[in-house]
Amino acid sequence: MKLVPTIGEMKALSSSWRKDGETIGFVPTMGYLHEGHLSLVRESVKQCSKTVVSIFVNPTQFGPGEDFERYPRDTERDLGLLEPLGVDAVFIPEVKEFYPEGYQTYVEVTEITNRLCGLSRPGHFRGVTTVCCKLFNIVSPHKAFFGKKDFQQFTVLKRMVDDLAMDLEIVPMPIVREPDGLAMSSRNTYLSPKEREAALCLSKSLKEAQRLFSSGERDANKIREAVKKIIESEPLAEIDYVSVCDPYSFDEVDKVERGTLVALAVKIGPARLIDNTQLGVDEI
Ligand code: AMP
Repeated sequence: MKLVPTIGEMKALSSSWRKDGETIGFVPTMGYLHEGHLSLVRESVKQCSKTVVSIFVNPTQFGPGEDFERYPRDTERDLGLLEPLGVDAVFIPEVKEFYPEGYQTYVEVTEITNRLCGLSRPGHFRGVTTVCCKLFNIVSPHKAFFGKKDFQQFTVLKRMVDDLAMDLEIVPMPIVREPDGLAMSSRNTYLSPKEREAALCLSKSLKEAQRLFSSGERDANKIREAVKKIIESEPLAEIDYVSVCDPYSFDEVDKVERGTLVALAVKIGPARLIDNTQLGVDEI
């Protein structure tokens, strides 16, 4: 497993692989890896002859007052988790090389970023599309793997790749959860034991949405209210949004159908947690 610290070295490695006819799989991450990240890496290793993982806490996707500074970092531990999976290269660029003085180019997907997390985190998706566009140019992957834990992020990136005719496939992967249902996230490390317990209200409420759907409920408002009620009954939880929406446009719906997205952002103590499920499609 090669450690690649500069853009030039990463480009050279990818282009030599491309010349040799290798298929390059790419898993972009912000590090502090858990089973959710590793599931993407395993799939890339399965589908592609070379796998690159990037570790980069991207400053442009954090707003003022968000957790960029305190975001957990432990590269040694991350490398120890990646090594046994058969990863070929880990790209760990430095902020000052990635965004040098004078940097002024951004990529923006417009409409679907004005919904859900885009409303509570202005500029967030502009940072995500910009960093991924640049990473795709550097790593030159045939396939890039993204978790549906960040469902809107995956959709926004797919839109960018389609709209700009970029030559790669975006592969969505299922949400990996703890045994008690909590969606895995690097941000779960912010939670005290009490908050960790309270955080279960997210997956519990999504489970209830699935139960209502499978028992025949089709009124979106009834599902929205049932989800809110479960989260509001948890004193440590503060709702950012509860959305029952179309999984492509993220417009709120009145009637739900198979595939309708139920998406949540909830603050629990110092952590803003997100989770989602597609009705009649996902298992929780
Ligand atoms: P991050 O390091 O949080 O930027 O995440 C890197 C990638 O891992 C993104 O594609 C995420 O959607 C994905 N990911 C994070 N948590 C999970 C999870 N619990 N299950 C599946 N994928 C995940």
